[in-house]
Amino acid sequence: MGEQIYLDYQSAKPVDPRVIEAMMPFFTEKFGNPYSLHKTGDEATDVLEESRRKIAEFVNADADEILFTSGATESINLGIIGYMMRNKRKGNHIIMSEIEHISLHNIAKYLQRQGFVVSNVPVDQYGRISISKLEKRITDKTLMISIGYASNEIGTIQPIAEIGKLATQKSIAFHTDAVAAEGLVDLDVKRDEISLMSLSSNDVYAPRGLGVLVMRKGFRVNPIIIGGGQERGLRSGSEDISSIVGMGAAVEIMKKEMPTEVKRFTSYRDRLIREIMETIPDTYLNGHPTERLASNAHFRFDGVEGEALLLSFKDLGIAVSTGSACSSKTLEPSHTLIATGLIHEEAHGSLQLTAGRFNREEDIDGVLKATPEVLKRLRDMSPVYKPKNR
Ligand code: PMP
Repeated sequence: MGEQIYLDYQSAKPVDPRVIEAMMPFFTEKFGNPYSLHKTGDEATDVLEESRRKIAEFVNADADEILFTSGATESINLGIIGYMMRNKRKGNHIIMSEIEHISLHNIAKYLQRQGFVVSNVPVDQYGRISISKLEKRITDKTLMISIGYASNEIGTIQPIAEIGKLATQKSIAFHTDAVAAEGLVDLDVKRDEISLMSLSSNDVYAPRGLGVLVMRKGFRVNPIIIGGGQERGLRSGSEDISSIVGMGAAVEIMKKEMPTEVKRFTSYRDRLIREIMETIPDTYLNGHPTERLASNAHFRFDGVEGEALLLSFKDLGIAVSTGSACSSKTLEPSHTLIATGLIHEEAHGSLQLTAGRFNREEDIDGVLKATPEVLKRLRDMSPVYKPKNR
């Protein structure tokens, strides 16, 4: 990362050099199209199916349950819209949570315009849904529950296995956007009774631009892209073989390294939370105290603005975030923090630190050294800050 301390892995991850190495031959020597009936084509077919098997193994699915797309957004569109359209004669209702990624909120609006009914299940102060509240929203018209595995902002992990069990009992499909959880939890679609799951390539340290939809048997979708019939007619367009090889290599590395990596991130996270909460007054932890991603520390500071925090850290060569990168330029307070019960002023003073593969303990030292100084300076200048917890 050069001179910069990078603690914004939830927004973007660098590509692992081992992944680039695995991809290289597929740009120049093994560039074939799996549909061609010659040796170069056969090589492409072989690696396509090998990557499919590796990704299936990573999430405990069967290889024929893996569909390649152009990214998580497309997977989520195909999984939700594709399923709702295919089953529209059986029902018209979908349940989501209040803290889904912006892409799901916009899909909800689209579905409503198409005549579907969308219900939202609220979250508690930690950003977790309750199973009983979810169950109350199920009607005989409900086709699908779509709840993100974990929040990409506050890091709270949902009770996924319980949602899966409820969905199975009620014969409803369960889609989960697992992008924020990739590489940080043991994804298992069979154990957790997940019907459809969306993944992105960058979150396993492969280049952006590839997505996966895990589509379990019995939960078929209608295609939303029509063309040459690739991916069993469900996602047309020539497969991006080099990216698919990259994601296969990335999940293979991830599977081996995840247990030690998660331990390392947990120790960074717990140190950040402990020391920041101890040394800076009027500071609160956003998200769940224990059911949270190993990489995520998310704070709220009285009397400071998120943008001012970000820019102060930027001046010190530290890259951090105030929330979802996908909507951070809107200056609207985070819908996730508002859903946990914060008022606008509170939601504005947040800081998100997310660690990843290339962080070292020195990065945590650097952030811990800088944070009290930054906070003191901003609060000294703040016209609204009044110390409380001293
Ligand atoms: N879901 C979550 C939780 C995300 O954080 C993102 C953005 N990284 C997406 C979906 C959409 O991913 P993409 O922009 O790569 O399609």
